[in-house]
This record gives sequence, structure tokens and C-alpha cells, in this order.
Amino acid sequence: MYNKNYMENDKNLKITFCSGAGTVTGANFLLEGNGKKFLIDCGLIQGEKFVDDLNWTKFSYDASTIDILFITHGHIDHIGRIPKLISEGFNGKIVSTVPTKDITEVMLADTAHLLSRDVENELDKIYTPENIKKALDNWETLEYGQKLNVDHGFQFSYKDAGHILGSGMLEIIYNHKKIVFTGDLGNSPSPLLPDTEEIKDADYMIMESCYGDRNHEHRDERKKKLEEIIRENYSHQGTLIIPTFSLERTQELLYEINSLVENKIIPQMPIFLDSPLSIKLTDIYLKYDKYFNKKARDIIATGDKLFDFPGLRETPETEDSKAILHTPSPKIIIAGSGMSNGGRILHHEKNYLPNKNDTILLTGYQSVGTLGRLISDGANKVHIMGEEVHIKANVAKISGYSGHKDSDHLVEFVENTAQTLKKVFVVMGEPKSAMFLAQKLRDNLGVKAFTPTAGEIVEIEC
Ligand SMILES: [Zn+2]
Repeated sequence: MYNKNYMENDKNLKITFCSGAGTVTGANFLLEGNGKKFLIDCGLIQGEKFVDDLNWTKFSYDASTIDILFITHGHIDHIGRIPKLISEGFNGKIVSTVPTKDITEVMLADTAHLLSRDVENELDKIYTPENIKKALDNWETLEYGQKLNVDHGFQFSYKDAGHILGSGMLEIIYNHKKIVFTGDLGNSPSPLLPDTEEIKDADYMIMESCYGDRNHEHRDERKKKLEEIIRENYSHQGTLIIPTFSLERTQELLYEINSLVENKIIPQMPIFLDSPLSIKLTDIYLKYDKYFNKKARDIIATGDKLFDFPGLRETPETEDSKAILHTPSPKIIIAGSGMSNGGRILHHEKNYLPNKNDTILLTGYQSVGTLGRLISDGANKVHIMGEEVHIKANVAKISGYSGHKDSDHLVEFVENTAQTLKKVFVVMGEPKSAMFLAQKLRDNLGVKAFTPTAGEIVEIEC
């Protein structure tokens, strides 16, 4: 596996699947050839825990020899180890789309705040403001479609992946061949973002497979379901708590609630956005509204503020957050984290889960081992911050909010370029999911699909 130190042809390129193969998180791929070394993403490996200990072993490459790190998008499993790369001597440029840089700045600061407490693994020396500043100082941005030429014959550009604000598929042209790293692929059509751009002329593709073996429930139902859950909670005079991911999911929810409130489909009530991280990220969405889809931009053109409506209150300060308890119901509280494995949502869960008139709404996938998963699976009691909490509240779920393409849509995405594809490498998914998708691509499209494992090296003909 590790023995491919020479190449058959000196024009060929070599890809090392350093991590993010055989698992959803920890995207980190090394592309090298013709005297150049590029990394694609540098994410945290996350499993049952927010961070896996695997993150802290040394990178398999010499960080100081990397020319450029390309980032596909601002999720922490794609950017979270940038400070570690810097502390191992990376001195090159970082490149992403314009919004991804702003998102990364906020996300890394938030993650560093948590991780720098881990003195045992010396993370206090890695997740420093200096390392984050160094990353941002050496950062260059590209608009979608804008080309970056790098010596030795490489050209890079981004296409819109439609996954989160700023998400990009990285296209590399080298020796008349096109190599595409998809990053995460959006569940288009999204309420806010344009659809994933089509790729029709790729020679090689390195693609995600988070939902490679499953299809999503129909998404048309989800706004209707959200409306029903909010109405029901209102009629019980209850509190509706929504644990949610700060990036993209929160903004999608605000956008949908905005439309329900302003069209008077639901009654007005206090709605708290109780997450400092979500508040900061929502500000970035507002700054970059030109990247939204046409429908969202048309609404903005009428003078409507997409994430601001009567009843909405932001509570960045701890004191304001604590005071939510004293606001009479009915009310809605949106807080992180999305799987209830940390964040302010824990306080609200402790307060409201024991009440039968209150409701918790789960809007995303809940990993095994998280508090969110226990609640989703129907536990009668759970432990929150050392206390036993009996669950009497209603547990509601809406599953249409996934940010990833499902199995059928991943196949459809590859189908557009099946005629030109020489090989596709299926990564960023659990082994079951990646293998299922690879088989489906072989059977349905007749393409050569592979599922590399972590650490594997492949040579691609150029
Ligand atoms: Zn992502």
C-alpha cells in the first residue's frame, strides 16, 4: 500500500487518501506530481466523539513541503486540522472561495476555544490565535469559475457544490486531464443555495458518499411538517426546542420560519436564536447573499430580510440565554449543538424535556453515542451534565433537511460525466455506504469505481 514511491510515467499524478477514506469525516487528500504537492482539505476526524484521538498523530507527509492547501468548504471535518498543519511547518498558501474564508475564521475560532483546553495532547500549543492568524494571512480566495494557474502546468478552479454557503468542487486541469475533488455535494434544490453545478468532462473524480447507500425522505413535506409542529406546540402553550447545526441548517430553518411568520401561517411568538456561533455565521450569510439562489435573491430584492422576522431574538450573551427560561410559553428556542453533544441546547433540554407540553424537534442525523441519538431512539431518561432527566416532552423529527445528496442523486451526478470518466474514487462515507455507491456506479453507469482505504496511494494516468 505504501510502496509506490516511483511513478510509471513522470507525467502521472499520485493521490494519497491520507484520511477521509472509509469514513465520513477527516477529509485530507494529497495530490502530487511534476514536482508539486497539493493538499485538498485538512479536516478533523470526528466519530462518536467531537474529535477522535487519531487527529493528533503526525501527518503522513512533511507539512513544510506542501505548496498549496485547497479547501472545499467550511465544515470542521474539512478545515479543523489547519492549525495542526501550520504547527507541523506548513508554510504554503491556502485557497478557497470567498465565503469559505470567512466561515473558516469563525469555525476555527470556535473549535480552538474548545480544543485548546486539551493540554494533555498539547492542543493548547496548536489551536492558538497565532496559528489561526497565520492561516488566514496566507489565504487567497477565488470566485466560482475563476482560474488559478500554478507553475508546472496546473490550473485550479471551483464549481458550486450547493452544499453550504461557499462550498466548492475543486477542478484541476493538468496535461489536458480534468480531476475533480467534489468535497461534499449539496442536497439540491436547497432553500437558499443554487443547485450543484454539473460536471460533464471529468477524467478522474474523488467523490463523497455520506448517503451512498440511502435515499432521503421527500423534502416537499418538511416545511409543512415544521408548520404543524410549531402550531401544535403553540396550541399546548409549550416550548419548542430545536437542537441544530450552526452552519447552513440554522439559516435554512430561519429562512423557512421567516416565511411562515411573515405570511401569517403561524402565530407570532418569541423565537430565540440562542447560539453565538449561529449568530456569527448568519451574519456571514447576510454578507454574501449574492451567492444565494434566484428565489432567495428575489425575496431579498423585495426588501425582506431573510433571517429577521417579528418575534426573533438573538441571545449572544450568557445572561440573555439564561433569561429565556423566564419568558412565558409558547416560545421556540433554536440552539446548538445539532446532536446535543455540547452547547447551550443542553441547558434547555434539562429544563424542558421533563414537561409533557414541550417538544424537542430533531432536524438532522444523530450519530450513535450522542445524546441526540438517545432522545431520537425514544429513551425515557437520559443524563445531562451529571443529572438524570426524565423525558416526557414530545419528540418530533423532520429528516428532509440533509445537506448531502442521497444515493440516487449521487449516481445522477456522476452520470453526467460517465462518458469521460476513467476512474472514480468513492470516499467520505462509511465503508458500507462507499462500497454500495461504488457498486451502483459500476452496475448502473459502467464506470470504474474504487473505494480506497485510509493511507492508500493511487497513481492516475495523465
Ligand atoms: Zn460538509
